Parts: sequence; structure tokens; C-alpha cells
Amino acid sequence: MRETRLRFPPSPTGYLHIGGARTALYNWLYARQTGGKLILRIEDTDTGRSTEESIQGIIEGLEWLGIDYDEGPYFQTDFEQDHLAAARKLLEKGAAYKCFCSKEELEAKREAALAAKKPLGYDRTCRNLSPTEITEKEAAGIPSVLRFKVPERSGNLGYDDKILGRIESNYSEIDDFVIVRSNGKPLYLLCNVVDDIRDRITHIIRGQDHMTNTLKQVLLYEALEVPLPVFAHMPLTLDTKKAKISKRSHGEIVAVQFYRDSGFIPWAFNNFLALLGWSAGNDQEFYSKEELIKEFSLERINKSSAIFNYKKNDPKFFTDPKAIFINEHYLRTMDIAELGELVKNELKKEDLWHDGYDADKKDRYLQTVDLIRDRFHTLKDFTSLGRAYFADDFAIDEKPLAKNVLKFPELQKWLPELADRYEKLAEFSLEETERVARELSDELAIKPGIIINAMRTVVTGQLAGPSMFDILVTIGRERVVQRLRDVGKLFA
Ligand code: GLU
Repeated sequence: MRETRLRFPPSPTGYLHIGGARTALYNWLYARQTGGKLILRIEDTDTGRSTEESIQGIIEGLEWLGIDYDEGPYFQTDFEQDHLAAARKLLEKGAAYKCFCSKEELEAKREAALAAKKPLGYDRTCRNLSPTEITEKEAAGIPSVLRFKVPERSGNLGYDDKILGRIESNYSEIDDFVIVRSNGKPLYLLCNVVDDIRDRITHIIRGQDHMTNTLKQVLLYEALEVPLPVFAHMPLTLDTKKAKISKRSHGEIVAVQFYRDSGFIPWAFNNFLALLGWSAGNDQEFYSKEELIKEFSLERINKSSAIFNYKKNDPKFFTDPKAIFINEHYLRTMDIAELGELVKNELKKEDLWHDGYDADKKDRYLQTVDLIRDRFHTLKDFTSLGRAYFADDFAIDEKPLAKNVLKFPELQKWLPELADRYEKLAEFSLEETERVARELSDELAIKPGIIINAMRTVVTGQLAGPSMFDILVTIGRERVVQRLRDVGKLFA
């Protein structure tokens, strides 16, 4: 068996789109499954639209997702000599020809064809020019493009698509397409094939939007005398109204960076992307990296479009709820040390990380993360909803403040009293903190709930959360005592 070689060849003209990330993921999965190689090639021949920022965005996006490549990044513009050599080869063997028709002539032909309801393709005027005619035109300085000479054959041209089955078209329906412009620049269609041949690509997994090119590319392979790679054209990613998703119409949510910046867990997002257009044929929703590499198959990629379920203007749907659901699953179940590392990055971004967490308090730090993760949706929640666990400058929600604190002005005496008792405890444990809180409410002849709810509010700022005494122990005596003593500030 020859080595499988796959490629991800983005054009660096914008952000890394989730559709592009899905293409990268599927190529990566197949390369890893077959022990092959993945090549990153930046298709930057459109120099007017390619930007350095976009290249960086693509590379960073792949890095965040953990989609690693074995070769590259290669840059298409570095290989212009190869593209032109292939064009020369095609010209020399008679598989391509110089076309001297001017833009104006072509436009006039098109209009005439349109009026006569005839096919709009090039009418092949220059296809059979004699060597003398060519020399004369060149001597007269008439510029020319290079066109591919589509063979005149009866019957159909085609290839077997791994996802869609046999794709065919009649030879007569394929236009003699341009492969080199009059300024000497090779066209993308040719560059793409020449690079895939040079990189010895065995499988091309890409979006169905590229299918308009594929039959032409099949002809190029044949003329360059290279066997065809396997083609697999994936369905597009559409919104619930079956429209293509784009930044213009859907905003940031179509860019991979949005998920990184919104606190998604990289593997969770890959898991979501994997299911956006592929399924093993059962209901399984969560796949570890190893499982997905093992289970993935080109044949089981859906034939019809993938639906990105996003409801604009609905705050619950800040992106596809499935992406959030999968993220929550990983957040709540993943290895705590691994999650600890991800949360650490978030804390660092907010300047809430201190080295104490790394040294003797490491266990305590992980306990904190473990205690609060059950209610969270993204990594960002650790520094927003969970801020009280890592910092003293946290906000107190209006609702619990009114309901659990401001309603009982006596708390200004009760909570500092509790703080004094907590300070004196020999051991600041679950049992002891609870015993003392209940003892105090008994003495005051009030429901323990009053003390406990008030304590939750001043200590965490939140209405609900994990068990109160777990929280106290996790946050630690010093901070708890201070927050209880500061209750008066809330009444000011
Ligand atoms: N550069 C093309 C794109 O970004 C990829 C073409 C291909 O996969 O063959 O859409």
C-alpha cells in the first residue's frame, strides 16, 4: 500500500471559516487513520486578496484545534516555475494552445451566443491555428492566453467520488479553459493540480463548491499523465434557511477564532465539527480523539448539506446549541488536570492566576475547578460566573442581593458574628463550618436558610451553585471571613 497523502490548501483571503476547519479536520482524521501525511499548503496565488493576517489566522486556528500537519506550510507562489513548466509541457504535446482572442472579441462572441441561445463556452477559434498564423500574431505583438484543449471524444468524462459516487459530464460540455493568463501568470485550476501532483497527494477531500473545477482537473491529470487521486466532495455547511453561512450574514460565529475566544474546548469543537456532516450511523455524540480517528470514514460523510443550527437574534443561540452542548459535556467530564490547564490560561488572561496555585495549593486549585465546572458552559464562565473563586473583585448579582441580603438588615450583625466564630475554629472543615452556621441560626432563632443563602450571596455573588460548605472550604477561611465581615458595604 502506498502512503496516503492528504492536504489542506486554504486560500488566505479571510478568517478560518468553520467549513474550512471541518475540511481540515476530515483530511487530518483520514491521514491519521491511515498512518499517512497531512500537508498544509497556502494557496496564495491571488496576491491581491491574500494577506499575512489571514495566513496567521489559519495557522493559529489549526494550532488551537490541534490539527497538526506533517509538511508545510508550503506557499503556492513559491512554485510558479512548476506551474509554468506543466503549462509548457501541455503546449508542447498539443494538449493546450495559444488563444489570441481579445477580451472585446470574447465578449462579443458571448453576447452573440446568448442572443442565439447557443452554448456560452469559447468557440475554439484559435484551437486550430497553423504554426504560421501563430508566428504572425506573435510577431504583431498580439497577447495570448494558454487554453487547455479539451479532447474531442464522444461519451462522458468522469470520476468516482468517494462520497457522491460516479460524477460524469459529456466532453462537449467542457469549455477549453484558460490555464495561463496573457500576463504569463498560471491560473489557480492548473496550480492546484500541479501542486497536488508534486506533493504526491492521494486523496482530495474538499467542499462541493469545488466540483465545478474537478472535471477540468481530471483532464489535466490525464494530459499530464498522472493517475487520478481519490476525490471526496463534502456537502456544504448551510444555515437553517439553507443559505451559505458567512461572516457578512452570520457574524463572528462562522470563524474558528470566535470559538477559541469564547472559551470553547478545542477537542469539543472538533467533536462538533466532526458531526457536522459525518456520523457513524448511530446516535453516538461524543468521541475521544482516538475513537474518532478509528471510526471516521469517507463513505459515511453525508451526501446532503450540513445544517449549522443558529438562530440569529435569539440570545440562547449565541451559536449552534449543539456546539455548546458538546462543550458542556467535555467541561463537566474531562480529566480535571487537563481542564485545570485550560482554565489556567483563562485566569492568566484575566490576570487572576498566581503562582500559589501551582505550588502547595495545586490540589486546592483543581478542587475549585472541579467544584464549579458542573454549571458552566464555556471556559470563560470560570472568570465571569466563577470569578469569586479566584478573585476578590467579583460582582454580586442583583437578584440574590435583594432577595437574600438586603431584605434582612440584621445580617450586618449576624454575618460578622459568624465571621468571628469561623476565625476561631480549630479546623475550617465542611462539618465544622456547617455546625457553626447552624448553631448561630439556632441561637438567633432564625431559619438556617437565611444565614446560608446570605452567605452564598456575599461569598460567591451568585444565586445558586455547589453546596455552600464545599464552597466555604474551597474558597478558604481568610477570604470567607473577609467577605462576611464586609456585608455592611452592601447596605451602604
Ligand atoms: N484553495 C482552495 C480553497 O481555499 C482549496 C481548493 C482545493 O481544496 O482543491 O477553497
